[in-house]
Amino acid sequence: MRRVSIFGATGSIGQSAIDLIAREPDKYQVVALTGGRNIAQLAKDARALRAEVAVTAFPEYLGDLQAALAGSGIESTAGEAALIEAADRPADWILSAIVGAAGLAPGLRALRQGTTLALANKESLVAAGPLLMAEARKYGATILPVDSEHSAIFQALVGEDIAKVERIIITASGGAFRDWPLEKLATATLKLAQTHPNWDMGQRITIDSASMFNKALEVIETNEYFDVRPEQIEVIVHPQSMVHALVGFVDGALMAHVGPADMRHAIGYALHWPKRGHVPVERLDLAKLGKLEFRAPDELRWPALRLAREVIKAGGLTGATFNAAKEVALDAFIGGQIGFMHMAEVVEEVLNRTSSDNRLDNAVITLDMVRKTDHLARQTAKDIIRQRQA
Ligand code: NAD
Ligand code: MG
Repeated sequence: MRRVSIFGATGSIGQSAIDLIAREPDKYQVVALTGGRNIAQLAKDARALRAEVAVTAFPEYLGDLQAALAGSGIESTAGEAALIEAADRPADWILSAIVGAAGLAPGLRALRQGTTLALANKESLVAAGPLLMAEARKYGATILPVDSEHSAIFQALVGEDIAKVERIIITASGGAFRDWPLEKLATATLKLAQTHPNWDMGQRITIDSASMFNKALEVIETNEYFDVRPEQIEVIVHPQSMVHALVGFVDGALMAHVGPADMRHAIGYALHWPKRGHVPVERLDLAKLGKLEFRAPDELRWPALRLAREVIKAGGLTGATFNAAKEVALDAFIGGQIGFMHMAEVVEEVLNRTSSDNRLDNAVITLDMVRKTDHLARQTAKDIIRQRQA
């Protein structure tokens, strides 16, 4: 029996992982399941999978969780310290699928076990990539990407020499507004932004797909995972979301990863790695699909892509600032305080105001520094949003 834990179990990725694990109950022993406010879902899954412990991130929900698990023999805990405690519970495979910067501390802690961390929480890699990688090396842990593009790159690189890679191309669907005229984007509403043409995902990442902040995070993520120069990373708009990424080699070959837009593939690959196992995703009918389209991304429409390059160039703590400022800008868009195109303006302004503090050697970065940077970036972003409204 493999011992598995899922952080962010009640979310879109967490639920897909549970779908896979629940199909083979004899293979997995579930250790910890964590969630937020959706206590009914957390308790239901904890009972069905006979988890050892269920954790809600928010202490005010502990009573509800205890009530929902009464008589089950499953432990209930709550809060940030409880998440860290859950990350210490021995497991062979730990999925980091909390959304946002909140996923960093438990993910980083889980690496100390020296086992496998399947990482969906791309924000932690953007905010503290060098720190996560150093910790993984120190404790002999393996980080496996759970993002469709990065899983695709990882798979295309099996058996290959990274020195023979010329370029890495990640695809972007273009999100909800890819066909809108540029001048109309300022009027994009929340309702439309949270509807994705191809993928069924959490609210935040869906809006980030429309603004390409998601792709911006993924460019930085690619830079952290794979040992290539930033200039070797390209983004291409691919409306069908069937090709997830391509790796180009020195002989001109392009290895493309093609599959349905279903995160259970990337999760399943990481779950079965280093072997391949059956994953119940739809099999593509290429004749029915007919054609695949590709177009160059327009950086005027998606300024987040330009910002991602600047973040990589600046290094140090800039990624932590970028991620935190993006989270605040996204909250402000969801809250109706700023418009769709203002999100990138706010983030750029925060980057400008904090740039001199963020320049630092990657080797000296600690979790505490990332936390302080994250906090300062959030304050700065809130100030900028307030000033705009005044
Ligand atoms: P989601 O919003 O559906 O779920 C988020 C999970 O995090 C929930 O379990 C929630 O309870 C928990 N959570 C929220 N705030 C928390 C906090 N402060 N502390 C602790 N837990 C908290 O999100 P999702 O779409 O499943 O995305 C999860 C992660 O996976 C994100 O980092 C996202 O970028 C990444 N990802 C998602 C997809 C996708 O298809 N949904 C694809 C690639 C990568
Ligand atoms: Mg992705």
